[in-house]
Amino acid sequence: MQPRTRASTNLRETELLRAEAFREALRPPTHAELDHLNATERSSTRTGLDATDWRCWKCRSLYGPIKNLFIDLPWPICTRPGCGTRNPAFFEFKLTSMVFCRVSLNMPVYDQGHRPSCAIYAAATVALMKTKIEWARAPHNPTCTISIDMERLVDNFFEYYFHDLTRSAGTWIELAMRYLVVVGAPVLYLVNPPRQPNPANNIMIDSYFCVDHTDHCLVTRLLASGIPLTGRIVSGRRMDFATCGEIYLPPPRGLADDDHHFVTLIGAGLRQRSDGVFEICYAVRDSHSIYVHPNSQLGFEQRRGALGGDFQVYARDVDAIWGVNLG
Ligand SMILES: [Zn+2]
Repeated sequence: MQPRTRASTNLRETELLRAEAFREALRPPTHAELDHLNATERSSTRTGLDATDWRCWKCRSLYGPIKNLFIDLPWPICTRPGCGTRNPAFFEFKLTSMVFCRVSLNMPVYDQGHRPSCAIYAAATVALMKTKIEWARAPHNPTCTISIDMERLVDNFFEYYFHDLTRSAGTWIELAMRYLVVVGAPVLYLVNPPRQPNPANNIMIDSYFCVDHTDHCLVTRLLASGIPLTGRIVSGRRMDFATCGEIYLPPPRGLADDDHHFVTLIGAGLRQRSDGVFEICYAVRDSHSIYVHPNSQLGFEQRRGALGGDFQVYARDVDAIWGVNLG
């Protein structure tokens, strides 16, 4: 992967780069690697929802919790041959509410406006969250005030690759990941007069990986281990009405006026559906401003100024998941 001059590439070249970027995607961390990672490190700030031992009530097998950096998850299912009982123990967490080594992992809610740039927003959000976690690990000042100049990032990204507007915005993740490897996200300078960003300070990623979106247990565990991810959903017309505590049910795939949309997966939890079945859902952060997805429990006046930006989706409704590795 060679850096190239910042000039629009043509459609054919962009498609070749997309295919190349997809081939370059690494494998995500395995459960064994996460066991090792989480055995050496454990956040002292806990959610209060750390899972404990679970004894299967059918076959009496005993399972310990799955230890993670931020929250210990309940063992999901009895693995004894012929049993397969599911553990309905509740869990819920959101990385943006976590504090790690005195560094808050809360993130700004961006507003992508009308540009089809959700993939680069989601990728940059994940890169910045990972940067914060790495910053927290390092033994220096606990204030981490890095901000990404999103406007400049999106302008540059659009300049770098050919944007075929007939393609869904939800197909841009490979190129967004590749862009963060090759160029990176410019840091915002809040000084007056504004300085030209120094490319040497760009927030860059080293590599990226694609996670099997059907492996809900691994995805949940990656999130619980402080590894934020980007996820793709179908954004129907009702998406904007999903409030932060509620689950958005996307329309069936393939409807003409619906589009794929990338969001940041920032947490997970267990929900009971109306038919009684327990199902994993993810907390997602959108890039459509703080005025979208506010808490529906608030009154109208309060809601207008309330922080929104997050909602929830069932794990089965997320159909592509990617993560990043820093250098
Ligand atoms: Zn069992």
